[in-house]
Amino acid sequence: MSRHVLTVDLEEWFHVMNLRPFFPPSSWEDLERRSPDAVRRLLEILERRSVKATFFCLGWLAEREPELVREIAGAGHEIASHGYGHRPVGALGRVGFEEDLAGTERILEGVTGKRPLLFRACSFSVTPSTAWALDVLAGRGYKGDSSVFPVPHPDYGWKGFSPRPVLVETPSGSIPEFPPLTLNLLGRNFPAGGGGYLRLFPVKLFSLAQRRREREGLPGCIYLHPWELDPDQPRAPVGGLKRFRHYVNLGRTEAKLDALLAAHSFGAMGEALENLEGRLPSFPLLLP
Ligand SMILES: [Zn+2]
Repeated sequence: MSRHVLTVDLEEWFHVMNLRPFFPPSSWEDLERRSPDAVRRLLEILERRSVKATFFCLGWLAEREPELVREIAGAGHEIASHGYGHRPVGALGRVGFEEDLAGTERILEGVTGKRPLLFRACSFSVTPSTAWALDVLAGRGYKGDSSVFPVPHPDYGWKGFSPRPVLVETPSGSIPEFPPLTLNLLGRNFPAGGGGYLRLFPVKLFSLAQRRREREGLPGCIYLHPWELDPDQPRAPVGGLKRFRHYVNLGRTEAKLDALLAAHSFGAMGEALENLEGRLPSFPLLLP
């Protein structure tokens, strides 16, 4: 049976894009870092369920919490890159993106002794207009990317991208793209990969998406953030739908995650991509 992939975006509660107006980067240094506690609870859950996950780490956080990153790596989990300062790929631009990658590689290599070979962009910000990012990643020798969300969304998403892992052919070489899990209902793809959706919807819906993948002999990719396991985090003065989406059911993430881990088999992304080698359909990238 195909093992699913469990991924964690290692960042702080104040790094979230929706909260940027309240917590600009200039304020980060003075804010309370709460991810170490949440991550240590998560590591216990993973240990209990014998699951190895992939942690996409922010360079900014790895610089300030190197011990935490070493603890994660020491527990046998995979350390990957989430970029340096949680800026969307489009805002960085091609040159800025390359610098951001290089800086984060240096930091993570300094902390763990290994260069990260997998990448996930801030807020799944690889879209048709920033597809050049995959060319940059392939050129730097990355072995996989998980930055494309194959659903329409107001802030991100690549409608029409394959919901299953594919091998993206870029001018600089090929790179596997592993999008988070979606569920096809009535011909439309709905997100079933984690985050707010895992907190909002019943575990059953996620299990259904995973069972469908299992029948195809393919893994699905689930993601979560440490702050989703932290119901006591400070609340930002966001309003309306964003407030609801961001803070709903924070106290239930842990139990839901545990239910998923009990029902399905999970592992890290690097291993899953190795198992898929030679089996991924090709996705030619047409760059302007
Ligand atoms: Zn993130």
